Parts: sequence; C-alpha cells; structure tokens
Amino acid sequence: MNPAAFPPARRIGRTEAAELWHNADDAELQRLAAEARARFHRPDKATWLTMAIVNTTNVCVARCDYCAFYVLPNKPGAYALDADAISARLDALVALGGTLVGFNGGFHPKMRLIDYARLFQTVRSRFPTLEFFELTVAEFMYSCKVSRLSYADGAALLRDHGTRWVTGGGAEVLTDSFRMRHSPLKYTVDDYYDAQRAILLAGLGSTATMVIGFDETLDERLDHLERLRDFQDEVGGLLPSFLCWTYKPTATELGGDEIDARSYNRWLAICRLYLDNFRHIRTSVLTRNATAMEALRWGADDFDLPTEDEVTQKAGATVSHDFEALLDAARALGITPQRRDPFSIPRLTAPA
Ligand code: SF4
Repeated sequence: MNPAAFPPARRIGRTEAAELWHNADDAELQRLAAEARARFHRPDKATWLTMAIVNTTNVCVARCDYCAFYVLPNKPGAYALDADAISARLDALVALGGTLVGFNGGFHPKMRLIDYARLFQTVRSRFPTLEFFELTVAEFMYSCKVSRLSYADGAALLRDHGTRWVTGGGAEVLTDSFRMRHSPLKYTVDDYYDAQRAILLAGLGSTATMVIGFDETLDERLDHLERLRDFQDEVGGLLPSFLCWTYKPTATELGGDEIDARSYNRWLAICRLYLDNFRHIRTSVLTRNATAMEALRWGADDFDLPTEDEVTQKAGATVSHDFEALLDAARALGITPQRRDPFSIPRLTAPA
C-alpha cells in the first residue's frame, strides 16, 4: 500500500462502530462518513462505469436458502452458456457503452477450472476492449475442488490463461454462524480467505463485497468488517474496492423483506468509517436502483450501471438502461458523476 495515498485515520473498533450504528443520528453519521470519504475523494464527485454480470451457468449444488437463481444438475431449466451465447450478450453490453464484464454462475459439479479458463480465453479474444472479472472467489473455490487443484495452482492456471481479475463475490456475510444457517455447503470463512489470499499472491486482482438484509445480526456484520479490514492490512491494501448490496427476497426459500434506504445508507456510512484501508466504497444500483445514489452522501464514492444480472433479477432486482435518469439522481444530490475506466490491478509495494 502506498502510505501517501492513505493518510492516517483514527481507526474505530467494533464497540465504537456498534455505538454509532445504534445511537448516532443521521446527520452525525453522514458527517463522519463524509469526512472519511474526503480522505480519498472530492465530496462533489463520484465515479461510475457500465457493466454486465453474465451468468455462465445456473447449475449449482450449494443450495443457499437466499438464492432464487440456482437449478440443480439435470433439472429443467439448467443451462451452461458457450462462447457464442456469451458473445451475443457482450455485443449487447458494448452497444450500451459497457466496459466491464463479471462472469458469475453457480457451483457446477462438471465445470473444471480449465474449462472455465478456456471459455474465458475464447471470449476475451473476441472482445479485446473489455475488462473481465472471471468467477467469484466462491466459484473459484468450488471449481478448484472439482479440479483437485490447490488454490495456488488454480490461481496460477487462471493467470496463465490470461485471467486478470476474480471478484470477491459470493461473500454475503463472512462469518461462520451466518454460513451455517444459510449456506452450509458453500465454504468456511477461513477457506474463503485462503482462496482470496492465493488469488492475490498469484498476481490476480480481486475485490471485496458484502450483502446485507437477510437475518444477520449486527455482530455478524461487524465480524465481516473486522475480518476484512484485517485481511486488507495483511495484503497491503491489494483490494481496490468494497461493494455492499442488499438481499432481494423474491422467490427465495428464505423469503423476508428488503431493508429500507435509510438502513442501507447508515450501514454504508459504518463501512466507510470502519474500512479505513479501502479507497473505494461502492453503492449498488443493481439492488437499490436510483436510491443507491443517496449513499454517495453516506460515504460511497463509486457505482456501476448494470445492464444485466440474472441472479439478482430472479430475486426481484429490476435493471434500467435509462442511464441518464440514474446519473441525474446523483446530480440532483449535487454530485457530478464521472465515467471511469475499470480499475487497474494494485501491486504489492516492496517493503522499505
Ligand atoms: S448463491 Fe451462488 S452458490 Fe449459493 S445457491 Fe445461488 S448460485 Fe449457488
């Protein structure tokens, strides 16, 4: 991490974060988050790009109870896209001015890592101007197991086939009590961070994510932030961004209600304050639509305009291609949204 880019902040602990969550009024929380945001970003600017999340397969054996997307192997509706089907989706993204693709899917028991690597290599060669996030950490972990590869060997395999990024998706709430309640077949938190570490050490880029609004407790949310901040310290700030989105309950086994805008905004403020070693805190247009822009006044500085994501759309998300209307929602708050290129992959700086 370049220390000059991260001027010192007074680090807050769990107790203070919980105190702020329970007792700070909205104005105070906004003010503190704005101060923390201003360490890295001008208050009147935010950045964005257009991206597609292309779901390469909906076949999944993890059976998370909050998921409305997956189909068990060999059941009606199961699919796995080939390079031509993916390319047709990316033609649509390019027509909409998109620059970034996230390949997400499920835990497909027959997809080895080499199958993904070759598929992505083919698609990448057809779209040289696009940047790609290829698999989430969670899918990477499962495909390594299917392939009988260590995470280090799996990350090297992807890298040697041209992969540049894996994303920190599939994280939801990274605490084992949450995982046991809702997705006991997915992974343990230690395992997740082992995979994330191997990805970064292989020289690939990755990101950090969180999903809120299930039945998680404040303690579980703070577990997520604490473990993530420690990890970011350990790897010297290699994760460029943290994205928090919200659970969509439609058609899921878990069900429930969506959290309201105020709860989301307040939580993003806590994230900005707690994750003092993250430059970019991203707000989710995919799950919050135009109201996501409000979070730019609660510590967030960046967002994407999504063109598609079947996983969240199946659970009730709606995607609008009226990008100007979405950007106008930011402008109405006095924030100028500036289009950006996909992030560069941070590099470990050699110790002094
Ligand atoms: S959330 Fe992901 S891992 Fe869990 S069931 Fe859905 S597709 Fe599978």
